[in-house]
Amino acid sequence: MKLRNIAIIAHVDHGKTTLVDKLLSQSGSFRENQRQEERAMDSNDLEKERGITILAKATSVEWKDVRINIVDTPGHADFGGEVERILNMVDGAVILVDASEGPMPQTKFVLGKALKVGLKPIVAINKIDRHDERHQEVLNEIFDLFVALDATEEQLDFPVLYGSGRGGWMAEAPEGPQDKGLEPLFDLIVKHVPEPDTAGKDEPFKMIGTILEANPFLGRIITGRIQSGSIKPNQPVKVLHGDGTLLETGRITKILSFRGLERVPVDYAEAGDIVAIAGLSKGTVADTFCDPQVNEPLVAQPIDPPTVTMSF
Ligand code: GDP
Repeated sequence: MKLRNIAIIAHVDHGKTTLVDKLLSQSGSFRENQRQEERAMDSNDLEKERGITILAKATSVEWKDVRINIVDTPGHADFGGEVERILNMVDGAVILVDASEGPMPQTKFVLGKALKVGLKPIVAINKIDRHDERHQEVLNEIFDLFVALDATEEQLDFPVLYGSGRGGWMAEAPEGPQDKGLEPLFDLIVKHVPEPDTAGKDEPFKMIGTILEANPFLGRIITGRIQSGSIKPNQPVKVLHGDGTLLETGRITKILSFRGLERVPVDYAEAGDIVAIAGLSKGTVADTFCDPQVNEPLVAQPIDPPTVTMSF
């Protein structure tokens, strides 16, 4: 199956959660038995219920023969390093902007970082059904923002879709067509976002830890994008700090791949994919997880307090 890795960038309330829900429900990965009220990216109520905070998540949708990993970008601007690490896991981004409010500070902050790491974003002007929508002005504001953030010519040439996440449609024109649902967005992601580079899949395994979780059954889980090589359960790995010092050696006990809202154990994963691995007891965010023969760590983004989340 082909693969795409994207981030969705939006200011709070611009409709990210609703859109991801609709992507899930219109994609092949949606499972009837998945409780629809359990929304994809924003499980505030669930979190409150469990008394925990989930700070970063990923989900995946399937469109035709492509699996699209979607990672959420943090809703806060405090930890710069975290946003950069997450953006470094993906090859594209969808910038979702409310057609009435226009780009807001959070859009600017994360978009600036996305442009800096070289992503070529897709712009989606959302909530076009609002009576006070002003899509033409908002598009101009977004363009001006790209310019102010030093976007390259290629980045400035961004594709634009209009639509309503809640209405479950996106189209090249603000008036629709609406009856194609989110197909234009799925197609644009597949067309515009580069396929992850799998050229290094025969090289030794390397991955930067990006999201750390404590799981009651599996222990420590680290999510990251496999930069090179491949992994199987039981494979020996070591963990290197950014300065090259050895933190630990161990074995991978489990590899989890994203499928819809769930994560499923897999027997194999290779360069380009975003996975979660269990089995190591010390390795953390910004460390390099790699084959025992590797001695050079990958260059990590600035280190900030690791994000420890709980998963169930
Ligand atoms: P998030 O904070 O970006 O995840 O935003 P949500 O998806 O939670 O949406 C925020 C609010 O906007 C909710 O009340 C949604 O029902 C509403 N909303 C989402 N999509 C649309 C849309 O396409 N049109 C309109 N008018 N409202 C929407």
